[in-house]
Amino acid sequence: MPDYEAVIGLETHIQLNTHSKIFCACKADSWGDPPNTNICPVCTGLPGVLPVLNRAAVEKAVRLAAAVGAEAIHDVSYFARKNYFYPDLPKGYQISQYDEPLASGGRFDLPLPDGTVRNVSIWKLHLEEDAGKTVHQGNRRLIDFNRCGVPLIEMVTGPDLRSADEAAQYLIRLRQLLRWLGTSEADMERGQLRCDGNVSLRPAGSTLLNPKTEIKNVNSIENLRAAIEAEINRQRRELDAGGRIEAWTLEWDEDVGTLRKMRSKETEADYRYFREPDLLPLVLDPAWRAAILAGLPELPLARRARFAEQYAIPAYDAEILTEERSLSDYFEQTVAARGGLPKAVSNWMMNDVLRLLRERGLSAGGLRLTPADLASIIEMVEKRQITTNTGKELLEQVQDSGRRPSDIVAAQGLAQVSDESELQALARAVMEESGDQVAAYRAGKATLIGWFVGQVMRRSGGKADPQKTRAVLEEMLNRGGG
Ligand SMILES: [Zn+2]
Repeated sequence: MPDYEAVIGLETHIQLNTHSKIFCACKADSWGDPPNTNICPVCTGLPGVLPVLNRAAVEKAVRLAAAVGAEAIHDVSYFARKNYFYPDLPKGYQISQYDEPLASGGRFDLPLPDGTVRNVSIWKLHLEEDAGKTVHQGNRRLIDFNRCGVPLIEMVTGPDLRSADEAAQYLIRLRQLLRWLGTSEADMERGQLRCDGNVSLRPAGSTLLNPKTEIKNVNSIENLRAAIEAEINRQRRELDAGGRIEAWTLEWDEDVGTLRKMRSKETEADYRYFREPDLLPLVLDPAWRAAILAGLPELPLARRARFAEQYAIPAYDAEILTEERSLSDYFEQTVAARGGLPKAVSNWMMNDVLRLLRERGLSAGGLRLTPADLASIIEMVEKRQITTNTGKELLEQVQDSGRRPSDIVAAQGLAQVSDESELQALARAVMEESGDQVAAYRAGKATLIGWFVGQVMRRSGGKADPQKTRAVLEEMLNRGGG
């Protein structure tokens, strides 16, 4: 049986997180709103209206094009009408870009689990408007126009992915980049990032491209992975049995976990594209271009590499800390506030701050616990002014109250007990209550020291300095022993 290689390309539609739609002032994000409440004569295509291009949508598209290394971001590009009839497309055409789009060429660097980077070519990146939504309810079809005119970027990769896992990885990294750039919320379940997958097989090592099938309507990364995996297996069985692959369009049924044939793919429909006569050419003058690109942040992979290098933290830490931009900013600000010690800051963030974020459903940008607060807590723990446990509790208290850590420590008397006479008093009280354990320790059961430390800690309300407590206990226990 021949050894096959999967050839996968992904077509994504990205909903831009602008306030208003691409050609009118209607609210762009209608998630949770009743149907047909964010519409106007422009986006519902009434006669006599004129579209006006949203600058913010252009700026977000230019930033994304630059971030994926577009070979060209064109000074002049054009919108075109893509004509087709569908109930949820009231104008009878979609305004898109066609032969002269905003950007051309590009490359998405996809880090793979084995440490290598796959260069995924970008074949297409352009702006367009979304269509409405048809909802099937029994025999009825209901149309919601809220989505008409929502700004989208269509971005299509070359056939450069080789497995279902790589396709899933691509979506994970694309989602990270979109959120990082502030381009899109990229929530697949809300339709803000939609993906179709093209799949074919060929003998391993070959460069030919066989007929491909197209998988539509997957609404999560896990579903995309499962659907592509299933399609690779189906094609392999078909080819092994001597069959041939036809260019079907398939739909993933997530409830059953199977692919269903939607239709045999016909030759590309004749959309009768022509230049949109109601819009001027999109002119990206040098000053505007420069202003947009000046706002382009350091990208996730570059920041990951810099973190590992500049702060000498493990690759694993650098990966986690750069999963999200506000988290990576938070790390750098805390290191700056602490005046160094990046590994200590990383440990606190990876263990305790991330747990706090998960529990509260927040991103680092939404924390009341500021980088300066975290730096101050870490410093108090390191100077042994408070115990590690107190430090962990302080994170939550600062987050809940918005008060400064040092104020909470002073007000609640949380300072670590390291005064020798206080510790001796605590130790004495514990020893008096624990005659059996004292005798056992003195008879040679040295491992009991941990138990004694725990008792003193408990009696102090968790505030006793554990190292000094141990020293005091050892001294007192050994003194009386024989
Ligand atoms: Zn509108």
